[in-house]
Amino acid sequence: MLRIYNTLTRQKEDFVPIHEGKAYMYSCGPTVYNYAHIGNLRTYIFMDLFRRTLKYDGYKLKGVMNITDVGHLLSDGDTGEDKMQKASREQKKTPWEIAAYYTDVFFTDLKKLNIGKPEIIAKATDHIQEMIDYVQKLVDKGYGYEIDDGIYFDIGKFPGYGKLSRLSLEDQQAGARVEVNSQKRHPADFALWKKAEPEHIMQWQSPWGMGYPGWHIECSAMSLKYLGMPFDIHTGGVDHIPVHHENEIAQNEALTGKKSVNYWVHGEFMLVNNGKMSKSLGNTYRISDLEERGYNALDFRYFCLNTHYRKKLNFTFEGLDAAKAAYSRLLALVYKHKTAPASGDTALADKYVEQFKQAIDDDLNVPLALGILWTMMKEKPAKELFTAALEFDKVLGLDLDKAQAPKEEEQNIDVPQDVLALCEERKAAKASRDWAKADALRAQIAEKGYKVIDKKDGYTVEKA
Ligand code: AMP
Ligand code: ZN
Repeated sequence: MLRIYNTLTRQKEDFVPIHEGKAYMYSCGPTVYNYAHIGNLRTYIFMDLFRRTLKYDGYKLKGVMNITDVGHLLSDGDTGEDKMQKASREQKKTPWEIAAYYTDVFFTDLKKLNIGKPEIIAKATDHIQEMIDYVQKLVDKGYGYEIDDGIYFDIGKFPGYGKLSRLSLEDQQAGARVEVNSQKRHPADFALWKKAEPEHIMQWQSPWGMGYPGWHIECSAMSLKYLGMPFDIHTGGVDHIPVHHENEIAQNEALTGKKSVNYWVHGEFMLVNNGKMSKSLGNTYRISDLEERGYNALDFRYFCLNTHYRKKLNFTFEGLDAAKAAYSRLLALVYKHKTAPASGDTALADKYVEQFKQAIDDDLNVPLALGILWTMMKEKPAKELFTAALEFDKVLGLDLDKAQAPKEEEQNIDVPQDVLALCEERKAAKASRDWAKADALRAQIAEKGYKVIDKKDGYTVEKA
């Protein structure tokens, strides 16, 4: 039974789908005014691991991801320029050209990272009518009101506001730095529909004149259209908990009068050198930046798989180097099993597959699953274990089937593979807080004449 941590209840819960054997999932997608950085991509790797785990567990997936190509303003307070409009002005292209270009690059990145495309990709600009209808219904029900610059959601009418973030309205205000619009009934009321100035490029006819949708209504309208309400799972990054997802809940519940999503699941942030990623610091790396420096996209995927999705992950090039080296050693081990004869012992492979399944079913414990893979790969080479590794790879997505004979220089690495395997196993033991096992493994490593030194982002190993 799959258990998953639900942000709404702050607990791991059994996953019980609404429709038997099916999992309906909505994932907040990119705003396509710029390239996705490695932090964004970490969130989509998390989405992919979740989707693959559901599939592995036999669920038929209906996944929806939006492409936000309009309406995401620079500020959470519904002020500032539309991100698409700004990129369009700066790059002297139409917003549609901007969206098409960055959407394309985004999907190329996903492909490189072995991130499966959700079944339905929904562009916001293809669903304007659904959004207008949604807003109209909220207005009719008394949850939406019109002021000079748009239609706003009346938070005062929705007492459940804040239940996802567990923040009071005052706290949310302080966090979001919302500029107060004097016509709003409450400072936290958010735009459902904005009226467009004549120079605004993307605008549509609506009952309230020419305008464009608010960002939050996009996800509500498109999830309602494709998944119905309630649906099973909604994913996104943790930054979406306080404003974006809180607002989606308010809209959905105001419209339908009931709970709209059973499991809210959020991926933690990626940091760079323990700080925020930001353009001004020049640390918003893209996949192509990593490639230019000699890494493969899957080195980055392996790097991400080593940390549980609910933990912050600090990106450093040292950390990525370690991941790249470990991944290539892993592939070398997989290759040994791939080219080995069958041992006739299927029980051993079955035991590891069972352990693996338990790990991923425990709130997607992929770091532990990787540790199990390492332990399995250090067994005596046997074809059955290669077959089992391919089973794991349905979730891990590391192209283990493509493992090739290791290159000369990779065979001459100074730390023996059995020692590295012990180190990986110890790392997994630490990840699952099994300190006794971690200590026992340290002793085993010492017996082999090596010393493991824990680092903030993993470990290094050297001759004792
Ligand atoms: P955006 O295009 O800004 O809406 O972001 C796309 C996705 O990336 C969202 O799900 C965000 O929550 C997520 N995200 C943004 N920054 C980071 C980060 N530093 N680490 C992980 N995920 C992030
Ligand atoms: Zn969204």
